[in-house]
Amino acid sequence: MNLSFNGKGRHRRSLVLDRSATRYNCFRYNSAIMNEDSITELKQNLRGRLIQPGDGDYDEARKVYNGMIHKKPRLIARCADVADVIRLVNFARDNDLLVSIRGGGHNAGGLGICDDGLVIDLAPIKYARVDPAARTVTVGGGCV
Ligand SMILES: Cc1cc2nc3c(=O)[nH]c(=O)nc-3n(C[C@H](O)[C@H](O)[C@H](O)COP(=O)(O)OP(=O)(O)OC[C@H]3O[C@@H](n4cnc5c(N)ncnc54)[C@H](O)[C@@H]3O)c2cc1C
Repeated sequence: MNLSFNGKGRHRRSLVLDRSATRYNCFRYNSAIMNEDSITELKQNLRGRLIQPGDGDYDEARKVYNGMIHKKPRLIARCADVADVIRLVNFARDNDLLVSIRGGGHNAGGLGICDDGLVIDLAPIKYARVDPAARTVTVGGGCV
């Protein structure tokens, strides 16, 4: 899966926290500001669950297989379906957010999770479609 936005390979870029922005309950990545209103709107439109620091299941949601990885995302979105994934990619692009995609969370380096950015968590998307004629199986991103 390749989600390098605008061809810039943003996955590899680090997020810079602007201390002056935190006073207004928002944080800044480059020139973009994500405020609480945009997060509330995202939450209302998602079919899956949006988890934030302070939520009871936040620490559980940010765990990956490698117990040495302790990254703290700003948002973790448990996607219910493809529509959620599309919405989240657009949200990340609009807010200039660092994104990581999480499937099974087994990547040894913990690349399915990121600090301060948005985790698009595919774990709930579990399905398998068999096409006997083409001899192929298509599985959801959460099947790993
Ligand atoms: C105990 C164990 C056994 C394993 N056995 C096998 C095995 O038998 N065979 C095998 O092939 N592998 C094996 N692996 C390796 C593992 O399957 C791979 O690391 C695989 O990538 C894990 O998939 P995942 O969905 O869990 O990835 P996750 O941990 O969910 O990571 C997500 C992936 O998406 C990528 N990604 C995240 N954000 C972005 C972005 N913005 N743009 C582009 N890419 C992004 C990350 O680089 C990462 O590769 C094993 C790992 C473990 C821990």
